[in-house]
Amino acid sequence: MENILSQEKLHELKTLLDDCTKVVISAHVSPDGDAIGSSLAMANYLRRKGKQVTVAMPNIFPDFLKWMPGADSILVYTRQQEQAKAAVAQADLIIICDLNQPSRLSGLEETVMASQAPRILIDHHLDPAYFCQLTVSQPDMCATGEVICHLLHQLGELGSISQDEAVCLYAAMMCDTGAFSFNSSRPVIYECISQLLARGIDKDQIYRNVFYTASEGRLRLQGYLLYVNMKVLHNYHTTIITLTNEERRRFNVKNGDTEGLVNIPLQILGMRLSIFINEDTEHPGTMKLSLRSVDDFPCDQMASRFFGGGGHKNASGGKLVCTMQEACKTVQKAVESFSEMLK
Ligand code: 5GP
Ligand code: MN
Repeated sequence: MENILSQEKLHELKTLLDDCTKVVISAHVSPDGDAIGSSLAMANYLRRKGKQVTVAMPNIFPDFLKWMPGADSILVYTRQQEQAKAAVAQADLIIICDLNQPSRLSGLEETVMASQAPRILIDHHLDPAYFCQLTVSQPDMCATGEVICHLLHQLGELGSISQDEAVCLYAAMMCDTGAFSFNSSRPVIYECISQLLARGIDKDQIYRNVFYTASEGRLRLQGYLLYVNMKVLHNYHTTIITLTNEERRRFNVKNGDTEGLVNIPLQILGMRLSIFINEDTEHPGTMKLSLRSVDDFPCDQMASRFFGGGGHKNASGGKLVCTMQEACKTVQKAVESFSEMLK
């Protein structure tokens, strides 16, 4: 295991954790498995230490994460604004997981930034903004869940965490690595997993809980998107999939049904970049883009130059306020401008 904090920072972390009584934990908007898993791992850990903990997410999270220990008590800001604001106002410590800039807290940003409570950021995205008293940023790590494993190790606690905490940490790492199929070659990841397995978790059950819970609608939607909507730009080794709200209604698409679909076209031999343009359900007329690549193609650079977003080298995203047709044109331009790297 790695000691990621200096002695001074470790002392700071211990003091912040010892001195708090009411903690709020949050993560990025449209929380994924790492956002929910790392937040709930911290929540379960701190509750076991006798702290009063509220987990508040900026908006809804997918159904396939609802089995996670502690997920049933998560506050969703877009649905429980007053409760979430009250929890933040009363907190004497705020822990923020899996994001690198406060704007990723979406509606919660203002309340969190206005609070006088100290903040801790625990994250693995590139280029963190420094808006917290303590910033634990580890861009080489596969997931925020992994960062927390190392923190618990350094606190001398990893060997004695509960099974619930271990389940959340494993799920966080599993989700951000496609079940350890990408961004997961550092040997120390498997030292973390070894420690988590030793807590008695059932990793095969966790895999099924996340990946084998599709609805009939999701599978049919997947078939439709791949058969009808997928464009393959063979010259650029790139695929584009689109999904409008009109199509969502037609297929009765539920929250979470599109999660992970962007990865599928990369199964085509030779493809290097997959782009999914997804009309925002909460803001019709806004197109959300998800990018996934293999090897060295820098999705984050494309996302920041063309889609007002960012992310990781192989997984990033952004937004365009325009029609689907216009979004497709912008994507085409983006692909052409990166043609040297894609051909
Ligand atoms: P997803 O495609 O799963 O929505 O997002 C993949 C990754 O891209 C996220 O983990 C996040 O790092 C990044 N990302 C997605 N949307 C945005 C965005 O609007 N802005 C920024 N800066 N990053 C984003
Ligand atoms: Mn993550």
